[in-house]
Amino acid sequence: MTTHVDTTTLSLSLIRNIGVSAHIDAGKTTLTERILFHAGKIRKIGEIRSEAGATMDSMDLERERGITIQSASTQVRWQGHAINLIDTPGHVDFTVEVERALAVLDGAILVLCGVAGVQPQTLTVDRQMRRHELPRLCFINKLDREGADALAVAGELRARIDAGAVLVNLPIIDDGGRRRRLVGVVDVLRGVALTFSGPAGSIVTESPPPESMLEPLRQARARLCEVLADHDEAILAAVVGDQPVDEATLARALRAATLARAVTPILCGSAHENIGVQPLLDAVVRYLPAPDVRGRTLHEPGTGEAVPVRAGAEGPTCALAFKIDDGAYGQLTSLRILQGRLCRGDRLTNGRTGERIRVGRLVRMHADQMEEIEAAGAGDIVGLFGAPCEQSDVFSGDGRRLVARPLDVPEAVMAYAIRPRDPSALARFSRALGRFAREDPSLKVSRDPESGETILAGVGELHLEVVLERMRREFDLDLEVGPPEIAYRETVTRPVDFDHIHKKQDGGQGQYARVRGELAPAEGPDAPRFVDQIVSGAIPREMIPACEQGLGDALARGILIGAPVVGVTMTLRDGAAHAKDSSPLAFRTATAAATRKALQGAGPAILEPCMRVSVDAPERFSGAVISGLLRRRGRVVGQALHGGEVRVEAIVPLAEMFGYVGDLRSVTQGQGSFSMEMDGYEPVPEAIQRSLIARYGRRAPSIRQ
Ligand code: GDP
Repeated sequence: MTTHVDTTTLSLSLIRNIGVSAHIDAGKTTLTERILFHAGKIRKIGEIRSEAGATMDSMDLERERGITIQSASTQVRWQGHAINLIDTPGHVDFTVEVERALAVLDGAILVLCGVAGVQPQTLTVDRQMRRHELPRLCFINKLDREGADALAVAGELRARIDAGAVLVNLPIIDDGGRRRRLVGVVDVLRGVALTFSGPAGSIVTESPPPESMLEPLRQARARLCEVLADHDEAILAAVVGDQPVDEATLARALRAATLARAVTPILCGSAHENIGVQPLLDAVVRYLPAPDVRGRTLHEPGTGEAVPVRAGAEGPTCALAFKIDDGAYGQLTSLRILQGRLCRGDRLTNGRTGERIRVGRLVRMHADQMEEIEAAGAGDIVGLFGAPCEQSDVFSGDGRRLVARPLDVPEAVMAYAIRPRDPSALARFSRALGRFAREDPSLKVSRDPESGETILAGVGELHLEVVLERMRREFDLDLEVGPPEIAYRETVTRPVDFDHIHKKQDGGQGQYARVRGELAPAEGPDAPRFVDQIVSGAIPREMIPACEQGLGDALARGILIGAPVVGVTMTLRDGAAHAKDSSPLAFRTATAAATRKALQGAGPAILEPCMRVSVDAPERFSGAVISGLLRRRGRVVGQALHGGEVRVEAIVPLAEMFGYVGDLRSVTQGQGSFSMEMDGYEPVPEAIQRSLIARYGRRAPSIRQ
């Protein structure tokens, strides 16, 4: 079976670069697998959690955990189109992976659970899609399940994230029997019913819609016309004149409005029951953009000058490295060709380093298999071997140096001190760390200058555990892992004036610097850390940067537990210098000492990272869930009932969240699930502040950002 498409000759309008994103468990992996099946890339459907694992989850570990961690890209074919499908991780700990994938996509599918509706990570990925200006489709999955309600979820989607979301097919439910059954879908544009039979629902049968669907269909079509009338003159005229609108007109208007991100088509189905997957693929081809619709902006590294590139434009080759994997065959770089075409043997320039490379092996990826290719055209996604580079590097074919905007990388909030048990494995240990840090920008590796320990920091417990597990398996490392450490911060609670003289006279040139001003809580998150109000020349201009450096030195480690100090503003108002004995070093030392002293008087406090935790469980467990969260110093901020399930949202200190998975499982008899993401930093209660000071004694591990 070959599904290879030569994209150097394929018209751009026949390419789609698509990502699938969802809240964990909404069915993204199952759906992706069904898409691969129907588009002819795999022959057999593997049951994700019970059997060997889905095709897109290439790592054993992912299979075990049942979550997709690495973006895997694969090209499938549907109706003569080449669809590059990038699988994006569902767990919020891995949002860097999602960001990376979204940056190179032209469109997306947002999968929602037909029972749970809009979930916390739905909101997260929605924000990401908006940031990348991605036109999208929504797929309401799991409509076979008891309690699923497509209309309710569509309403919630409109109310909470996307006012332009509109149903383009509807589920046909048979609840006449003992059990509710999802029979098929009706196509709102064409007014026909579609049912799915044969292996994995691969035979699609069209028939007139059942009687019970006529009224819902009429309403959905009226609603679709109404929504599109806002964006299309012909439809507006027809709606006003009470005239019917034909399918072709609706489809054309729907495509235009989707590309403009004014409207989002919603499709319905059940990936697990193989219902509604082919109509979703049809919609990808019909409504999502080809690569030439939207260009990208690159920059010249020196001048910062913006350079627009576009897949449809004539021009030199330009490709963006969006994913780097070190595997059995060396470094594999996933590239999106932004402009021009890429051939084996081409010479390219890395815009960041200026280094020239030759394109050796070029491949097309399919989960963990690959196929060698000679060339690929603009808009396509390919893999390249042996190209030294980092993620987000840009390669150009004409020698011009270009760079991309860096990705938004989430803050590292927790860490482990780690080391190999066997000292002779140190070289392998650092190779492993180097590789993971390079692949994953949200992972921070540093050495604690005081203890000499290696600190591995990341965005959450699961994130770090996955990395540790991969180090053990892929690098055969036996690791000693310290207790989890939290990325604490320190701050101040009241303003204080300072006046400090640094004076040293020990033969030769002396040191003299005096600084005066105020250290105060910052007014808002964007307030500057350092304000220079010296007007009289009391401190010579060339000394000012040294003062700012001195402030930075002191704030790197606070006076309570040695954690970085945030949320402060220093205003430098006055000072004094000595013609002979003043130097930048003297001012840097003076400001650092002044800051440390001022911190003492400014009501120092410790801040801890707090998570927004969202728990779903059957309603009868709501009391147990809430008391569990309260015990963990949680603050419940929301509670909602939905189809027999309760959702509790709470802000809980990260330090209290360790082991929550197991607790939740036991109080809900395995029926609860939760997700969390960073909410912000909050002051710790006084008793905890005291115990942290006793525990760390100004030596909290330094967690790099
Ligand atoms: P992901 O975390 O979003 O990738 O979700 P998965 O695809 O791993 O699916 C999560 C669970 O939901 C698995 O147990 C699937 O078998 C199940 N599932 C997926 N799609 C459906 C569906 O359409 N209906 C039902 N009833 N279960 C589904």
